[in-house]
Amino acid sequence: MRCPFCGNADTQVKDSRPAEDYVAIRRRRFCPACGGRFTTYERVQLRDLVVIKSSGKREDFDRDKLERSIRIAMQKRPVDPERIDQMISGIVRRLESMGETDISSKVIGEIVMETLARIDTVAYVRFASVYKNFQEADDFDKFVSELRPPIGGDGE
Ligand SMILES: [Zn+2]
Repeated sequence: MRCPFCGNADTQVKDSRPAEDYVAIRRRRFCPACGGRFTTYERVQLRDLVVIKSSGKREDFDRDKLERSIRIAMQKRPVDPERIDQMISGIVRRLESMGETDISSKVIGEIVMETLARIDTVAYVRFASVYKNFQEADDFDKFVSELRPPIGGDGE
């Protein structure tokens, strides 16, 4: 596995352990060239999913892309990173178990929003605001006003 910091191809695995309730192996890696440390996950790929975009364009499903968009939405939110990983795996498993290899980007967006809504309201609003591409501030205000605070939330 190539080092994401310096590009050195010869990195070492320091630690491997089951993660996400045994559906993944988490490996801590170390780059002897630059001293960088990073983590990789090994997972079973049940099927190759294809995303159908609203333009009709087909694109291979990219877990990393999904993960990036969710991590942006979750930035600085008080949610355990392990929980975010579990959430992403849960979304992917749901997509994989839908019985179709072709999935519209709309369905993916809705599943992500549904999942985020249960975990963190702020992250949900952030994701939804990008996903729904609100053009008018009025729409966005209306959307936010329809949201209810999370149960047991600390008022954030
Ligand atoms: Zn390196």
